Amino acid sequence: MKFTPEKYKIADEAMRPFIDPEEIWEYINTTKSSKERVREIITKSLSKKRLTLEEVAVLINATDPELINEIKEGARELKRTIYGNRIVLFAPLYIGNKCSNNCTYCGFRSSNTNAERKTLNDEEIVNEIKALEDNGQKRLVLVYGDHEQYNPEYIVHTVKLAYSVKKNNGEIRRVNINAAPLDIDGFKIIKESGIGTYQIFQETYNSEAYKTYHLRGKKADFSYRLTALDRAQEAGLDDVGIGALFGLYDWRYEVLALVRHSNHLEACYNVGPHTISFPRIKDASMLQMGEKYFVRDEDFIKLIAILRLAVPYTGMILTAREPAKLRNEVIQFGVSQIDGGTKLELGSYSKNLNQEQNLNKGQFRINDDRSLNEIIDELLQQDMLPSFCTACYRLGRTGEHFMEFSVPGFIKRYCTPNAILTLAEYLLDYAPEATKNKGWHVIEKNIEQLNDEIKSGLKNKLELLKQGKRDLYY
Ligand code: SAM
Ligand code: SF4
Repeated sequence: MKFTPEKYKIADEAMRPFIDPEEIWEYINTTKSSKERVREIITKSLSKKRLTLEEVAVLINATDPELINEIKEGARELKRTIYGNRIVLFAPLYIGNKCSNNCTYCGFRSSNTNAERKTLNDEEIVNEIKALEDNGQKRLVLVYGDHEQYNPEYIVHTVKLAYSVKKNNGEIRRVNINAAPLDIDGFKIIKESGIGTYQIFQETYNSEAYKTYHLRGKKADFSYRLTALDRAQEAGLDDVGIGALFGLYDWRYEVLALVRHSNHLEACYNVGPHTISFPRIKDASMLQMGEKYFVRDEDFIKLIAILRLAVPYTGMILTAREPAKLRNEVIQFGVSQIDGGTKLELGSYSKNLNQEQNLNKGQFRINDDRSLNEIIDELLQQDMLPSFCTACYRLGRTGEHFMEFSVPGFIKRYCTPNAILTLAEYLLDYAPEATKNKGWHVIEKNIEQLNDEIKSGLKNKLELLKQGKRDLYY
């Protein structure tokens, strides 16, 4: 993204604190929720307009089960109209768990003497990538502890390594990262390596609560973390993901703050976050957490539906922290990306172990241990269209361009055909017979809904895939 002097001015403005706890609490405490208002707001969102903080607060304060149901149905409808039935798949790859911070909720924190510390060496990274490719993965998020060893140059090295590994028809076509905040020069360095999305979770947007969980280390600086994505934008990194760790503070506050953060990025840089993540705290080695802010399943489902309605064009990620049953349910209410075949213990993809998780080797407990194929199979049974698409990022359709999603017909012209092409590759190269049959059936059904021009181009490309060509996209 090129910066005009005018944009720099906006960016300076942006460095002023944009999260005001008093303002957020005022919305929560004073906004009234009536049937009429809730319905009006759902209708506004269905016309694909982003919601104001006050409107989000109205939805948060709706407690009548009938209205909550309407919010969920609204989110389901919006997801269908914007994203169709696609669901994008990825896998996390933990590179190293050394950490100089002491986040009380995390198994990697420096005071956890039970943690088995490890940083994958190049050979181990290559083996992990080969194992992921053998499963059919095409999109990864590389995850790092916060440690001087994992500096921008090291991150670049690991990202480039991930892109370089090719096994049979396997290759990684998009590497996102989840790493500690950097300064502007650091962001410039990692941008050059061709990362997809840079993700960083604020954990909690309440600075007072934040202090109690981040006792020492660089991460104790709330503002440095909060402004990380402004620095990323200044460095030209315009594809970013935000998130909050639910369970650290009141979920209603975090939802409003996530929307506020999205609005801030949109207002200052003309592009909101590419994705929002909303992990809930899970068991971890030597976990030291109270239950005060634990988010119940009903509230979790409600908050996902509200976020979907609040920021219609932002991707939403739900990880294997949550159990399969809940994941299958909430996918319908607005989730656009999930991980599959996830393993958190360092080096465990290539060892292919199917034993009890060892919390001392991973960051937290995952609760969905289905293989990638099991997930794809279940998605196909629900008539969903699993996708490994990486086209937008590779064609430079990021940042402001990504907003092209709002152009009518974009999904039918690009996203659905690309989802079909990447699913077809998976079926040809990796799927067992039963999944293949389901997959081709879903592909045929989806092709039928496309117009004749797109249909015929797509059929040609599918034929080329069957003849052995790979990596075809629009
Ligand atoms: N170390 C980097 C940082 O702190 O920014 C990378 C992040 S960490 C490896 C990935 C994310 O996992 C954290 O930002 C946090 O939200 C989440 N996380 C940490 N402990 C967790 C737990 N016990 N349960 C669920 N998620 C957790
Ligand atoms: Fe380290 Fe990140 Fe875990 Fe905090 S959340 S202890 S910074 S790995």
